[in-house]
Amino acid sequence: MCCMNCRLCYITISFHKRNKITIKKHDEHFLASTYLDNNIICFFCATPLYMFKRNTNKSDLPQSKILRIEQSLFDYEHRILKTNEDNLPYINETIVKKGDTLRGILQRLRVTNIDKLQNFIAKNTETNSIRKLLPGRQIQAATDLNGNLIWLRYLHTPYYNNNSDQVICKYLQIATNKECSYSVCEKTNYSERQIRVAFGVIKSSLFEATDHAGIPNFITIQMTNILSTKIDFPRDIRIGDQFRVIYELQMYNGLYLGSGKVLALEFKSNDRMHNAIWFDDDRKIEGGYYNFNGDSLKKTFLRSAIKFSRISSTFGKRVHPIRKTIVDHKGVDYVAPTGTPIYATAEGVVEFSGWQNGYGKVVILKHFNKYSTLYAHQSRIDPKIHKGKKVSQGQLIGYVGSTGWATGPHLHYELRINNKPVDPLSIKLPTSKKIDASIQKNFNSKVEFYKEQMRFLEKLQTESIKIAYSK
Ligand SMILES: [Zn+2]
Repeated sequence: MCCMNCRLCYITISFHKRNKITIKKHDEHFLASTYLDNNIICFFCATPLYMFKRNTNKSDLPQSKILRIEQSLFDYEHRILKTNEDNLPYINETIVKKGDTLRGILQRLRVTNIDKLQNFIAKNTETNSIRKLLPGRQIQAATDLNGNLIWLRYLHTPYYNNNSDQVICKYLQIATNKECSYSVCEKTNYSERQIRVAFGVIKSSLFEATDHAGIPNFITIQMTNILSTKIDFPRDIRIGDQFRVIYELQMYNGLYLGSGKVLALEFKSNDRMHNAIWFDDDRKIEGGYYNFNGDSLKKTFLRSAIKFSRISSTFGKRVHPIRKTIVDHKGVDYVAPTGTPIYATAEGVVEFSGWQNGYGKVVILKHFNKYSTLYAHQSRIDPKIHKGKKVSQGQLIGYVGSTGWATGPHLHYELRINNKPVDPLSIKLPTSKKIDASIQKNFNSKVEFYKEQMRFLEKLQTESIKIAYSK
C-alpha cells in the first residue's frame, strides 16, 4: 500500500493493491509523512475551505472527524504505478526531537544504508550543522522505493529575516552523486507567502480566543495595534465580542517560518463593528491601515513624545522657574530622566535642529495643515535629524536633557498652528486622514474584495456558533 498526505487539507489517501483507494481525514498535522511529490495537493483542495476548517473552534464542533470513502479507481492506480516507474522520489519528513540520534532519525525517514551515510557525515567537516541536531528542526529525506537516499535536507536555520517581506531559510543538503558517493552543500530558500483566515469569539480573553483559532501571537498583537485608536483592548473587551481576520504567513515547504501582516480585520466589540484593511496601492504609497470608509486608523498626532513620563507643567500662565515672573508657558513639560528617547508625534519635515537660547538643543518639525511641533532642552539630538529631513510618526529624534533654561531634565513640548502655540492637551486634533482622492478607486476595489471575504467568513462563523449551541 502506498500513502499520500495532502499538505493542505490533512487528508491521507492510501492506494491499496486490488484497485482500492482509501481517503482519511485527519484532525492534526502529520509530522512524518510519505508522499509522492513535494508540492502535492490532493483533489479535495479545489475548495479553500481547508483554511476555515483548521481555524474552527474544535470544541464547538461535532466529534465526527474521520471520513472514509472507498471506491475502485482503476485508472488512477494505473497512473500511480506508472509514476513509480518514472522513479519519482518518496519524500519523508520528520522533526528533530530532544534526545534524537542521527541514526534514529534516518530510520524514521526510512533511509537504508545508514552506516555509509553516517560515515560520510562523520568524516566531512561541512556537515557540522547536522551533527548538532537542534530539537524542533525539520529533516527531509528523498529516497527511491528501496530506501536508497537521493537527498537529505536539514533545515538548521528555518527563520532569518532579511528586512524584506520574505523570510529566508537555510538548509544543509547531502545528495547521492553519480559515483554512488555523497556531496554536501548549503542552500538558501525564500519563504512563500500564504494567506490565512480565522475567526473567533471571546470567551475569556483575546489571546485565549486567538490561540483557539490558531492565530500566531504576532498577528494578535498587530490586531490590537491596528485598532488601538478605536478599542482600548484591556478595558473594552467583553465576552461575546467577535473577530474575523485575514493575514499572511511565511511558509517554506509546509513549515511555518513566521507571520506577515494583517491584511483585513473585523472586530465587533460592545456591539460596535470596527474594520481595517492594509492598503499600499500595490506598493505605490507607504502602506497603512484604513477603515472600510477610507479613514486612516493612525492617529495624526501621538498622545506624547516620550513613552513613560509625568507632566510637571501644563500650558498657560505660570511663574517662570528661573526668572520668577508670571509668563505664558507655551507648551507642556514632561519630566523624564536624561537620555530618555523623544519621538516625533506626527510625520513631517525637520524645520530646525540645533541650539536656540532658552530652548537649548531643540528640534522643530513641520507637519501637514500648518501644524508644527517643538521639542526642547534635549541632551542630544539624533544625528539623522537635520533641516529638510523627512520624519515618520514615532521616529526617534533625540534624548531628554536640561540644555537651555531648564532647572532639571525634562522635555518641553510645543504644538503650534500657523506658528502660534496651542495647548496640545486640550486642542481637538484631526483624528485621521482620508485616503487620497487619486487612489480612491483602487482603494474601493480592495475594500470590496475584502468585504466579500469577510461576509463569507461571517457566514461560516455564524454556522459554527449555531452548531455549538445546538449540541
Ligand atoms: Zn516648558
